[in-house]
Formats: sequence, structure tokens, C-alpha cells
Amino acid sequence: MIEIVFAGRSNVGKSTLFYQLFGVKVRKGKKPGTTIKPNQITYKDLIITDLPGFGYISGVDREFNERVKDFIVRYIEENANRIILAIQVVDGKSFLEIAERWEKRGYIPVEVEMFEFLNEVCPKVFLAVNKMDKVDNPDETLDAIAEKLGMIPPWTNWRHVIFPISAKKGKVENLRNAIKRRLIEIKRSDLIPVLKGKKS
Ligand code: GDP
Repeated sequence: MIEIVFAGRSNVGKSTLFYQLFGVKVRKGKKPGTTIKPNQITYKDLIITDLPGFGYISGVDREFNERVKDFIVRYIEENANRIILAIQVVDGKSFLEIAERWEKRGYIPVEVEMFEFLNEVCPKVFLAVNKMDKVDNPDETLDAIAEKLGMIPPWTNWRHVIFPISAKKGKVENLRNAIKRRLIEIKRSDLIPVLKGKKS
């Protein structure tokens, strides 16, 4: 088996993105912060995993957040040998504000930690910056997000890593194409049909 994993804070739009890319509705009727079980779809020998959303969710206790984070780290470590791609999804509208809030308190933002971890463990990592339809200064914002995650701006030098998208508006072609290219790179173009949607 080979695997693609999606990771991201709760509410960044992971379910919406999943539906756009694969035409599958996941996490039906489940409230965020109530389940740790990842959602998975399989296509031939490819597993695509939507990991549970991490980070603080209002109304959910801290202990649950820690359990989710531990689960994600353990899951990725245990399956590292079959993971061919990890996609971290962030909310382009709120990422910087949340990251700076944690930095002011002296913490490393969990999304920064997660991105570093994924890069250590996975052979390829993409950053999907979602909700770009809500971002007023896209280039400025993307530069700042890149910098926070250790990529020297301008973000446009990182177009093979950073994919600004709007899952809700169906604007995900850049990311869809990059996933296709990754499948071609590992000589598995037979798996491309798992990506539903417009031809490109
Ligand atoms: P998840 O918790 O990461 O799975 O997030 P969901 O897919 O459930 O989305 C959380 C909220 O963000 C929902 O209200 C979505 O409609 C909204 N959302 C998702 N993608 C986008 C986007 O690209 N733009 C905007 N403006 N909202 C989005």
C-alpha cells in the first residue's frame, strides 16, 4: 500500500478540500473535536487519509487536543514507510494571527511544529493555503506564511511546495495538478483517476 495524508487544524477546510479533490464527503455529521479516527478512502493500493483536525477547538478540552496531536504524530511515524505525500492544510485568513498569538506567549505554533515534523518524516510535503478568497493581500500573506514555516520569501520561489487554494470556490487546480505530478513521479499515473473533477 501507499498513502497520501492530509493534516491541518480544525476548521481549515480539509473536508471541503477532500470533496473537491476526490468527490467524497467525509466526516458526515460528526462534530469537530469528537473523534480521533481518521477518515480514509482507498483506490487500488492507494490510501488517502484525512487525519483528525488538531489545535484548540472552542468547547473541547485541552486533553483531547493533546490526544489528537499525539495520535497524528504516532500515525505518521508508524506509516512513514508507505506515505508518499503529506499535505498540510492551513487557513490563509487566520494562520498568521493564530501563529503570532502563540509566539507572543512563548510557544512554537502547532502548525509550525507540524510542518517541521512532516518534512522530517515524509518524502514530500505540500502546504495548501486555503480560504484564499478571504485574503486581501495574497502575496504579502503568502510571503509571511512561507517565512513562518522556514521558507525564505518570496513565496513564489516555493510554488512546488505552497499552493494557495479556495476549496469552497472549487479553486484547487494547482494542488490537484501537483498531486498528479507526484503520482507520475513515483510512476503511478494509473492512480490519477482518484482525483475527480475538471480535466486539466
Ligand atoms: P475542516 O474542519 O478542516 O474539515 O473544515 P471544513 O471543510 O468543515 O470547513 C470549515 C468551514 O470553512 C466551513 O464553513 C467551510 O464552508 C469553510 N471553508 C472551507 N473552505 C473554504 C474556502 O476556501 N473559503 C472560505 N471562505 N471558506 C471555506
